[in-house]
Amino acid sequence: MPKKPGASARSGEPSLKISARGVARLQARHPWVYRSDVDVAGTENIPAGSMVRVHDQRGKFLGTALYSSSSQIAIRMISHGSVADLPGLVSERIRAAIAYRKELVSDTDAYRIVFSEADFLPGLIIDRYNDVLSLQILTQAMDAEPVRDAILQTLRDGFRPLGIVERIEARIRELEQLPPRASSLLWGEKSSTEIKMNGVRFYYDGLEGQKTGAFLDQRENYAAAARYGHGEALDVFCYQGAFALHLSLQPAPKCSSVTGVDSSRPALEMAEKNAALNGRELEWVEANAFDLLRDYAAANRRYDTVVLDPPAFAKSKRDLDKALRGYKELNLRAMKMLRPGGILVTCSCSFHVSGADFLKVVADAAQDAHKTLRIVENRGAAKDHPVLLNVPETSYLQCLIMSVSD
Ligand code: SAH
Repeated sequence: MPKKPGASARSGEPSLKISARGVARLQARHPWVYRSDVDVAGTENIPAGSMVRVHDQRGKFLGTALYSSSSQIAIRMISHGSVADLPGLVSERIRAAIAYRKELVSDTDAYRIVFSEADFLPGLIIDRYNDVLSLQILTQAMDAEPVRDAILQTLRDGFRPLGIVERIEARIRELEQLPPRASSLLWGEKSSTEIKMNGVRFYYDGLEGQKTGAFLDQRENYAAAARYGHGEALDVFCYQGAFALHLSLQPAPKCSSVTGVDSSRPALEMAEKNAALNGRELEWVEANAFDLLRDYAAANRRYDTVVLDPPAFAKSKRDLDKALRGYKELNLRAMKMLRPGGILVTCSCSFHVSGADFLKVVADAAQDAHKTLRIVENRGAAKDHPVLLNVPETSYLQCLIMSVSD
């Protein structure tokens, strides 16, 4: 029987060959191979989103990957061996991810259950918000119906949730050439609920808000910030008030006042509701953070604690210089406003800004502000957002907690 082009004789699954550079990436324990490192001749007949058997130029079998017909990341490895049943493998990995969280997540009913490559499930993100689960599908392979069915069934068995919602990022579906879909309730009846992180309560609406609704990656950093924050506190880029609320609800409240600043009115409205839910009334200011910091500095306003948690300034490598200038300006202004002994909690969630870049830009800001900063804690994302040592893309969040002196 003639062999179908691109099909391997052994299993009937499509196969492809990758270049020496692609092989080197896999050997370096990175799961991605770019299209430029894949033999195009073998790919015309590979269905979008299918599993492929990966070989080097001499035909040596390297493992199994998920294939995307549109992404520059042509394949994402899922196994160093053969895989018979993708939905079955996805279920098994979700169960392993759940077990991993059971070991290391505490003091919350909201956390990330599956973090894509970092849980060996490329293109799948699942968050738990108490009794509502939220998933995001980012690749063709994870979007296939049998895989979707397996995901839902495993989550229902694992959590008995009251609702499972899907959050859509239209641009990602477009890039993956997936048919458009709207964010929706996929299963059950509940899409909004109440969550508790570190004893602080929040409303959650699975079909509103940014990201999957809350910034779970900062969960442990909220508690850390609250350990050191004191006096008059300013939470800049406060979104729905998570840092601000943690600062105002420390077991022994050390903050005499807390003000949250954000440019989004809906975010601030939710922040106010969250505060009320915790029996607090805080000050919320709708403003552009850059303008506000400039005005407050000019008016000689002083604080004892400042949190800076801006959106990702560097969405791509091209934006890096501009992003670094943005971080420097914000940090410089915040340092100038801090009283001696004050605490600066400063974050970057731009993957393109490395930990070293971020330390450097904050150090430059300290130099210009004529301040000495001592690092109290140098932190990353919460443990439910694992980092793969050899996959820098899984490490994107920096959170420095520093004390400031003249
Ligand atoms: N600290 C928050 C997350 C912040 S996300 C938390 O832990 O939940 C970034 C926030 O910055 C968003 O709420 C967005 O509305 C806000 N934002 C973006 N640009 C801004 C600007 N120029 N001035 C003020 N807020 C801004």
